[in-house]
Amino acid sequence: MTGAIHADLFRRARKAIPGGVNSPVRAFNGVGGTPVFVESGKGARIRTADGRLLADYCCSWGAMILGHAHSAVSRAVAARAKLGTTFGIATPDEVKFAERLCALVPGLDRVRAVNSGTEAVMTAIRLARGVTGRSMVLKFDGCYHGHSDAMLVKSGSGVLTMGASSSAGVTPGAVADTLVAPYNDLEAVAAAFRRHGKSISAVIVEPVAGNMGLVPPARGFLKGLRALTARHGALLICDEVINGFRFGFSSYSALYGGVTPDLITLGKVIGGGLPLAAIGGKAKWMRQLAPDGPVYQAGTLSGNPLAVAAGLATLDVLEREQPYARMADLGSALAVGVSTIAAEHGLPITCQSFNGVFTPFCTDRPVTNLADAKSCDTALYAKVFHGLLDRGIYIAPSQFECNFVSAAHAERDVDAFLSAFEAVCRTLPA
Ligand SMILES: *Cc1c(COP(=O)(O)O)cnc(C)c1O
Repeated sequence: MTGAIHADLFRRARKAIPGGVNSPVRAFNGVGGTPVFVESGKGARIRTADGRLLADYCCSWGAMILGHAHSAVSRAVAARAKLGTTFGIATPDEVKFAERLCALVPGLDRVRAVNSGTEAVMTAIRLARGVTGRSMVLKFDGCYHGHSDAMLVKSGSGVLTMGASSSAGVTPGAVADTLVAPYNDLEAVAAAFRRHGKSISAVIVEPVAGNMGLVPPARGFLKGLRALTARHGALLICDEVINGFRFGFSSYSALYGGVTPDLITLGKVIGGGLPLAAIGGKAKWMRQLAPDGPVYQAGTLSGNPLAVAAGLATLDVLEREQPYARMADLGSALAVGVSTIAAEHGLPITCQSFNGVFTPFCTDRPVTNLADAKSCDTALYAKVFHGLLDRGIYIAPSQFECNFVSAAHAERDVDAFLSAFEAVCRTLPA
């Protein structure tokens, strides 16, 4: 789909915005072609600038768990907007929001609201360094934790699509302080601790990796990380910016991981589609943040009333409607369908999914880490992406991202996805 309207918008965008986009993956570098511009969204559908309706499986990278323009969320935001949108002074609703998160997420004794996942992780790392007096952080190859310097070493998501595992402008010092291990490789983490044990402040992990495509943790991986960090006096940071409230009505670490991390970062879902994220954890660490402690963190718009209104409304609906089991069923029907249809057509596509989040990996082998993900046929992925887009379905414009079923998706959407996918497969040489 290379509508003239999109091409024209992109031409203008490139003259006013670097690369024409405000976040790199939107430029379609991973799949080629002209990026799509979206005018509006309702439920599971988005309307493009040239008036096409698309079934949306990006859902703002999972933030729109209730679908677009959910009436309860829109109402809450509109009502709040009439009362003033920011004060730079504490508001009652941010207290309510923090109480809510602390009550729902085990291990969250205190939580501070910030504006983005990047900020939440940046704060978590500074806090871990501040309380341990150590410099190094261990992360996993292909996990994405936002675009702060320390976390841009061997990062996932859009950085992978760029074909660079680190960014220019990150100092050698920042790179030297970031250790990287393959995801799902406990032995590599143990080896890093043997070598640098006294210098590692924290291990940060996406419990379910979502930024090299959907890659679930191997059995025992998270518990192993918990044991290793505890033994060596390092903090365990679970970056649940995608995971939190996506797979169930709490954190992944509590619901499925069987671990209590020292610090948890949340984002995407908890902001209900507005810029809102959070960093929280054990009281003994969180009290080290300013103003009580020596680790500085602040924000003009932190705990922003509009964002908090959207977040609270989203949590209310999720709690009332508990759409998780249904989203999981739709997600697995979709994943099984995609893998089966691909196999029937002799195409190497394996769709991995967990509770409504899925990635069709263009490989016939299971993907357990970044090396596996990178072995995928990205040219085939691009064909699948454009084939689906031509047939009214929007999936992530990169092999190394997740797709999301929302509470607004229904069985007929899965049927439509699978028939479109089958039609695409028929056009592809086996
Ligand atoms: C999206 C994401 C981030 C960054 O959040 P932003 O709000 O985009 O800054 C951090 N960590 C994970 C796991 C993410 O998926």
